[in-house]
This record gives sequence, structure tokens and C-alpha cells, in this order.
Amino acid sequence: MSTTAEKHAFQAEIAQLLEIVIHSLYTDKEIFVRELISNAADATEKLKFLQTSGTELFQPDEPLKISVVTDKEAKTITFTDAGLGMTHGELIDNLGTIAHSGSKAFLEQLKASKADASLIGQFGVGFYSAFMVAEKVTVYSRSYQADEQGWVWTSDGQTGYEIESAADLPRGTKIVLQLREDEFAEESRVEQVIKHYSNFVQFPIELNEKPVNTVQALWTKNRNEITDADYEEFYKYIGHDSEAPLFRLHFAADAPLSIRALLFVPEKNYELITMARTESEVHLYCRKILIQSKAKTLLPEWLRFLRGVVDSEDLPLNISRETMQDSALMRKLNEVLTKRVLKWLDEEAKADPEKYDRFFKEHGHCLKEGVATDWGHREAIAKLLRFESSFTEQGKTTSLTDYVSRMPEGQTEIYWLLAPSRESAEASPYFEIFREKKYEVLFLYDARDEFVMEHLREFDTKKVVSAEKADLTLDKESTGLNAETAEQLAAFIKETLGKRVGAVRSSKRLVGSPAVAVDSDKHLTASMRRVLKAMNRDGTAADAMDAAPDLEINPDNSMIVQLEKIRHTDAPLAGQVAEQIFDNSLVAAGLLEDPRAMLGRLNSLLEKLLTQ
Ligand code: ADP
Ligand code: MG
Repeated sequence: MSTTAEKHAFQAEIAQLLEIVIHSLYTDKEIFVRELISNAADATEKLKFLQTSGTELFQPDEPLKISVVTDKEAKTITFTDAGLGMTHGELIDNLGTIAHSGSKAFLEQLKASKADASLIGQFGVGFYSAFMVAEKVTVYSRSYQADEQGWVWTSDGQTGYEIESAADLPRGTKIVLQLREDEFAEESRVEQVIKHYSNFVQFPIELNEKPVNTVQALWTKNRNEITDADYEEFYKYIGHDSEAPLFRLHFAADAPLSIRALLFVPEKNYELITMARTESEVHLYCRKILIQSKAKTLLPEWLRFLRGVVDSEDLPLNISRETMQDSALMRKLNEVLTKRVLKWLDEEAKADPEKYDRFFKEHGHCLKEGVATDWGHREAIAKLLRFESSFTEQGKTTSLTDYVSRMPEGQTEIYWLLAPSRESAEASPYFEIFREKKYEVLFLYDARDEFVMEHLREFDTKKVVSAEKADLTLDKESTGLNAETAEQLAAFIKETLGKRVGAVRSSKRLVGSPAVAVDSDKHLTASMRRVLKAMNRDGTAADAMDAAPDLEINPDNSMIVQLEKIRHTDAPLAGQVAEQIFDNSLVAAGLLEDPRAMLGRLNSLLEKLLTQ
């Protein structure tokens, strides 16, 4: 450097910071590109403001773009903007001292073991990240003010910096990094970094004279300036999808937080195909600069099917990735977004029920997971659930809200029945009483739905109850056995079946079926017992899981009436029939373990029938 250069020492804190930046930060080095581009964008934005406010500018017609040039041979990378530039005093103030309050906090954080370079910009010390990769940084700057002149600022980041005057500089700032290694002199590498972090910067970015950021930050524009095609293009870009999205939500809020969000629901949920959980693809930005991609804590896990962007100006500078996970602000953001998304999905459901059904087929399992895991939003998510029911047509669904609105007088609970199909639900002995009473029953076809219902427990202050467990009785005239005889028959059956059955009693809920198996545990349904059994197949707790079911018999059923007669004349035959009735009820409940065991008896019964 020539003798006219003035030498300056860095402020003590900057020297400390640089020491750490140069010697301790090894990961995420690429973020210096983001930081220098974001500074260039800030400077350009400020200039644009001056332009519109009519301030007299040096070189007023200089185009507002940011250019990045890599030079492999010289091992340099250069960032140029036509922004507002810096005066001599500003160079000293801005690049030699830490003026921001966040910087002290950043230093503390860095000195603590978990130094993380990615945070550097959030503390307002982004410029210094250049020294992670550069052995020397040269800043050429010319202020927008007409009566100013150009300056060159140079530093190796260690001994301080020098400033000297420079003639004939264009307005703005050019920063040249003499790199220690080749990595960031490589065009393709730099392009990748720019696309990742700075793709939505509002000014054109050119890398070696080719435009890089071709997609606009759509979320910052007004809705009426955006066409459907714009949205679709943006979605395909940010959501990595080739199909158009199913739903979109573009919203802005100022209170309690400043948020701009553009969220999409994809047409397909790949979890259904891959059987693996996907990650959220909602990225967190602060004024168009990426803060965290796939921000995990931004939305609850059960909304992981969403893709898009959330931009909040309220993200404080002194926030670290680790503390971001559980910071109060993140929680607040999460809460506001979750509420808004729930409202949005509800609106979509109302606007186009058929389209919403399509949505629910693909992503419904996530919402069900929400009901089971997110206590705070349980009821609101439950509103979004859809099930077939005994009142809908095959393949059509109802919401719980509509179900409740149809409940007749006298019905106080919401009922559901798990079955492999609509046919078997309708044929189920558990369903008989509901058909008779004209109470609607939700039909669930997926064993996991049962756990969802168990977690839901209540909706709109009404208990959600398994049809198997419903405490209902038919008030009908008895046409078969009287109470006393029915009791005697029950005792006979119990004696015949022994330990295989729990209690045997006369039923008040059956219409057509001779008998129904009912779990002796008040809380277990047949399918839950099945699941528990499967889990305990070779476990020691198997005994407890094997508790025998109760049997309820229908005193009005002709077979039962006949059985009562025959047991006095042909006890062995009555015993066989009783066993078969019990096995049949286990089949209906899906609880019969080995159907082959009953074949012998069945054959013997058939034989008797034929030789009669
Ligand atoms: P921050 O951007 O958070 O203020 P930085 O360390 O990134 O912190 O930058 C420090 C300051 O240096 C900026 O506030 C700005 O005043 C100045 N500066 C950095 N880069 C430029 C640039 N390209 N043009 C004009 N001023 C700049
Ligand atoms: Mg900055």
C-alpha cells in the first residue's frame, strides 16, 4: 500500500470477533456470500429510497443490480453494487467498529463453545464473515453524495485496516475477496449458494454476468398483483413439485407479529407412497433473506405437508439456531401460523367440499396425528376430519360438525365403529341398535383412526364413543325368552364355554344377530385388543391381554329360543351350538385366532343336520 494510506486499528471487540471468525469457524463458511449480498441489497434499497425522495444523486442512472464475479486464476470473488456507498467516515464507523447492540451478544455466543457461523449475519456483524474465507478484503466505495469522493479500504482481518483515496470509482461499493482456497472462486459453487440463500433478493443478481435470481419474492407483493400462473410457478420452484398445488394461502399480518406467508398444500402426499415421514418444507425468511430452510419448529409436525415461505421482520438479530428452536418468538410465530392455517383449511373445506375430500385423502393422516398429539388444537383440528358414516353414501364423508347437527333428540354421544369395509360395518352386530334407533355411526376403516377417536374423546362437548361400548338399550317388546329363561340359558352357555368366555348375559342391543362378543374391559374395543395381542405375541404380558370377552345373547332370536329348548333334550348338541355361536361372535369381532379349530365342530354339526 502506498504511503498515503492511513492505518487504523480495529476496535477491540472487532479484533476479538475477527480472531474467532478466522480461527474457529469452520462450518457454514458459504454464508459470507449471503451476508455480502444482503449488505449490497440493503445499500441498493436505501439508494432506491433516496431516488424516490428526490435527493440529488451521484450517477443517478446507474442500474440497480448486484454483480458477483468469480476469478479462478486470481482466486478472488468480487461483489459489486450501485447502492449508496460509503464515505471515509462511514467506512471507519461501519467496517471498523461494532455499533450494534447485538454484537456483544454475538461475541458471547461465539466464545461459548457452540460457535456457529450461520448466525453471524443475525447479529449485525455479517461483513466480517468475509474473513472466514479471505486472507485479504478490499472495499472500494463511492458515496451517492455528489460532493464526495471514492475510497479504498483494505484489511487482512488481523493487523487492522488501511484507507486511502481512490479516483474514478462509480457510485456504490465493490468488495474484492482474496480467497485462501479455491472453493468460492468456482462459479458453480457460488451459484448454488446464491440460489439457496439469496434467490429472492429484490434486485437482479448477476453471477459472471448471467442472471441468477429469476424467481421473485412473491410473498412480499400484493395479492392483486399476482396471477394464478405466478403462484403456480413460484410453488413449483419453492415446493420442488411438477404439479400445481391443491390449495394456497397468501396472507399478511401485523399483529401480534409482522408476518408475510405464502403457503401451499401439494396435490400429493408422498408419505403415502414412501411410508416415510417427510420434513416440513416451509422456509423462514427475514426480509427476503433465508434465515432457516425447512424450519422445523415454525409449524407443528402434523402440518408437515405444507410447503412455502414465512417471512417475519420481527426475528431479532440475536437469535441463534439452537435457541430458535424453543424461543418464545418461535412459539408465538408457530401459534399464529397454526391458527391461521386451521382457519384456512376450514375455509377451503366450506368452499369446495369435493376438493377438500381430495385433500383429506392425501393429507388427512397428518391431521389425525394432530388430533392425537396436539392437545391445544385438538378441537379445531377435529373440525377438519372427515369420515364415512351410516348416513353418508358409500365413498362420501361427513364432518363431525355436520354429524352433531343431525343428532336426533335423545342422542347425546358421537358414535364410531371400526370395520374393514362399509359392508362389514353395516352387517356388524354392534351396528344393529344404531340402525334401529336411527343414530348415525361414523365408519372408520383404518385401525389408527380408533386411536384418534380415543384421543379426541369429546367434540362440541359431546362424548365420542365406540359403538361397541355404547351404553344403549332398545326399548322393544320381548318376543322370545323371558328374562328368567334367558338367564338360565346364559348360565348354561357359560358352563359350556368355561374360561373361554367372561360373563354371558342377555342383550338389550341386538336386533337380528343371535349374539355379540363384547370386551370385558370397559375401555378396550375388539380391535384394540387385537393390536395389543399382536404387540404381546411373544411377550410375558400376553396373559393379561388374553382376558376372555363377554358374550351377550339375543333372547328374541329364534336360534337362541330354539337353543333353550334343545338343551333339555339334546345337551351335547346344544353345547356344540353354543360353542359355534360364540365362535361366530368372535369372527364378527375379528377376535377368532384360529378358525381351523372350529371346522371339526362345524362339520359334525352339518353331519347331524344331514342325517336328521
Ligand atoms: P449489518 O448489515 O447488520 O448492519 P454488517 O456487518 O453486515 O452489519 O455491515 C455493517 C455495516 O457496513 C452496514 O450496516 C452498512 O452500513 C455497511 N455496509 C456493509 N456493506 C455495505 C455496502 N455494500 N454498501 C454500503 N454499506 C455497506
Ligand atoms: Mg449485513
